[in-house]
Amino acid sequence: MTTITSSDLRRGLPAVDTLLAHPTLQAACQQYGQRLTLRAVRETLAQARTQLAQANHTAPTGAALAEAAIARLSELARPSARAVFNLTGTVIHTNLGRSLLAEAAIEAVVQAARHPLALEYDLDNGARGDRDRLVEKLLCELTGAEAATVVNNNAGAVLLALGALGAGREALISRGELIEIGGAFRMPDIMQAAGCELREVGATNRTHAHDFENAISERTGLIVKAYTSNYAITGFTGSVPEAQLARIAHTHDIPFLVDLGSGALTDFVALGLPYEAQPSDAIAAGADVVTFSGDKLLGGPQAGILVGRRKAIDTIKRHPLKRALRLDKLTLAALEATLRLYRDSDAPQRDIPTLALLTRSETEILATGERLLPHAQPLLTDFEVTLAPCASQLGSGSLPVDRLPSQALVWRSRATTRRQRERELRQLERALRRLPHPVIGRINDAALQLDLRCLATPDEEALFLGQLAQLPNLYRTATQQPNAPQSE
Ligand SMILES: *Cc1c(COP(=O)(O)O)cnc(C)c1O
Repeated sequence: MTTITSSDLRRGLPAVDTLLAHPTLQAACQQYGQRLTLRAVRETLAQARTQLAQANHTAPTGAALAEAAIARLSELARPSARAVFNLTGTVIHTNLGRSLLAEAAIEAVVQAARHPLALEYDLDNGARGDRDRLVEKLLCELTGAEAATVVNNNAGAVLLALGALGAGREALISRGELIEIGGAFRMPDIMQAAGCELREVGATNRTHAHDFENAISERTGLIVKAYTSNYAITGFTGSVPEAQLARIAHTHDIPFLVDLGSGALTDFVALGLPYEAQPSDAIAAGADVVTFSGDKLLGGPQAGILVGRRKAIDTIKRHPLKRALRLDKLTLAALEATLRLYRDSDAPQRDIPTLALLTRSETEILATGERLLPHAQPLLTDFEVTLAPCASQLGSGSLPVDRLPSQALVWRSRATTRRQRERELRQLERALRRLPHPVIGRINDAALQLDLRCLATPDEEALFLGQLAQLPNLYRTATQQPNAPQSE
């Protein structure tokens, strides 16, 4: 940390204590504390010093420095993990934290955070227990499995299952299922990391039962099926049904692993949504282990869930990676509360936010849009704002080709050249991100779209509307700056 030197004083910069004594900074001390305010003051003076050294500026006034220090202070005090509006049109957005938790799950997290928890403690017998016990019975009841265990995420679940059941041996998988999920999860790499030897079977578009039968040898340790959750192979295609793969595996006394990816625990068609396979289907078909995510279609916290036969799950639980990938108490508490809703709630599609957002009707979204439109239209003269139909995606590799009809606020630049239109759109995007509760939209078809599916509660709507008045000023000041790359 640099200090004020006599040359600073010659340049006209105040000493740290002098600036700190400014009335607005004294008030800030009350709100933010001495420590953070002092830091902001020091950093502000250091920046002023650099600027003075670079150019032949005159020193800023005390009031200007105090204002700069206050701005820095509010920036320093702002957490990096900020709540945002996800109006991207992708409901389960990995970059935006995937599922929102149900109220019951939030309550469970708060309790687990605030109090000691019977986590690995059997209250009936006063003895040491197993933390999986918190969710195992529920998972078995909801999927029809004999046993269950949980880890940090589904990538970890797949790695663990492969390592525990197939290390040192061949794992057979169809060529059409060598999936890559975003963020460097690639089936061939995961198999290698788990110590399995990948043995591709069949062709990219078609794989037959005899392909698997012919590939089996004394080196085979495992048959794997992975759901191609973020792409679809269409046309002349064929894959081996799970029940048949299970029969082939069991004839040769080897386990059958299914990586389901998304973990829908309820019948999606009954909710008016596109069909989605459930873990119970794979269990009923004879899978030894089924893995899926806790925070995709299940709508819970980030977790990797493994359900299946007792023998295979016991082998998995004994593997050292299980301990390395174990869940913490907050996640376990949230997961238990979410699973209880699937078992006990009269309407999981109302109580579990992910399901509520996915099943939200276009009529309701349209009504939200009609309330917002008159407030959005007059804000920026550079743009024409309309309400238009759009299509939401489920996201996170769930149901890759299906779209849900929705409505978006669409901001179209009135500029005459393409370059100008693009610049204004980027500027608008940036201004929306700089709102106190940042708004994340999507540029599509030369317009900025705010899909309103995930602006679903009156509180959120009020919050969104309440900050809109700040947009014109942010738009004016949001000129050229490198734009963060966007990905899903
Ligand atoms: C999403 C997904 C994964 C990874 O799950 P995470 O919970 O993101 O770790 C693995 N396999 C499939 C098929 C998936 O869809």
